[in-house]
Amino acid sequence: MQNKIKIGLIGSGHLGKHHIKHLSKHVDINFVGFFDKNKELAKQVSNEFSVKSFENFHELVDGVDAVHIVTPTNTHHEIAKECLNKKKDVFIEKPITKNANEACEIIDIAEKNNCIIQVGHIERFNPTINRLKTVFARPHYIEIERLAPFQLRGTEVPVVLDLMVHDIDLILSIVDSNIVDVRASGSSMMSDTVDLAHAHIKFENGVVANLKSSRIAQNYVRKIRTYEKNLYTITDLMIPQIEVYGLEKNSVFSDECIEQSVETAAGTKNLFYEKIIPQKEDALLNEIENFIISVKERKKPIVDGKQGLKALEIALQIEQKIIKND
Ligand code: NAD
Repeated sequence: MQNKIKIGLIGSGHLGKHHIKHLSKHVDINFVGFFDKNKELAKQVSNEFSVKSFENFHELVDGVDAVHIVTPTNTHHEIAKECLNKKKDVFIEKPITKNANEACEIIDIAEKNNCIIQVGHIERFNPTINRLKTVFARPHYIEIERLAPFQLRGTEVPVVLDLMVHDIDLILSIVDSNIVDVRASGSSMMSDTVDLAHAHIKFENGVVANLKSSRIAQNYVRKIRTYEKNLYTITDLMIPQIEVYGLEKNSVFSDECIEQSVETAAGTKNLFYEKIIPQKEDALLNEIENFIISVKERKKPIVDGKQGLKALEIALQIEQKIIKND
């Protein structure tokens, strides 16, 4: 029988705890333990999940096959480099690193040492988004809003690298075309970096994506709208639900859909409406399972280092445009 892969984790803060919750009870792996430089927090997390907290980073990393890096973004490069130089596979939370040079360096080390890098773009594993991808055909206009009230966590990087990078990765996974133009504007208020950002991304095939991210909003908002000929979708990731309006009754609509006649420029037409409640699944668990399979079978993960780098490069381009406009 094949031995279970040994996984360790660095950074047991807000998100790290969720990783530990899944890793510590996953039957296909041996969760060896974690290291957090905050000793008080490490003690609490160790008690809460009955897992071993290591006093020493190297002692943990030397004893595992793969490492989850769930520390603030400005530490990803240094920690990933240490792990990859020891020939360990790494799962790195998003964004891959704080700049492109750092990302390129760790991708090179991973390639040289035949190691896997997976980047934590969790929306690729979100069941609502994956259901939405089966509803639209070829949207020509996509709008995504990701708003959150202010908190200090994550402000070591601008909102574009913290929140918008999720949607940049998503857009890149939906639109199979080169980017020809990026425009952006934004503002700072509560941190030293950009807290509110708008980006307008145009692709060679004519598709346009409008992204809005804020960490100074009153409420949490996560909405995706897609527009294409005869079909409009509005997805609320917070509920979660997908609402679909169409002028043709195609396979997207069930027999229970609502139908009403509307006046359009081309005369009276039937408008079909369907509300889809997607299946409940844990996106983080799906993401972790993709990493476990990739490590076991030496397969490319769904979001590898190069895709993490691509999303980061676009995010940095948006950030630069905002700073120049300021
Ligand atoms: P956090 O501040 O709550 O936790 C970070 C932890 O890392 C802290 O406990 C801190 O003590 C520890 N730490 C810092 N430097 C360390 C080091 N050098 N060695 C060991 N431990 C160290 O932050 P968080 O919200 O959990 O975010 C962590 C990462 O996860 C960030 O990259 C963030 O962008 C990402 N994140 C992703 C999502 C998502 O949806 N995928 C959501 C939240 C955060």
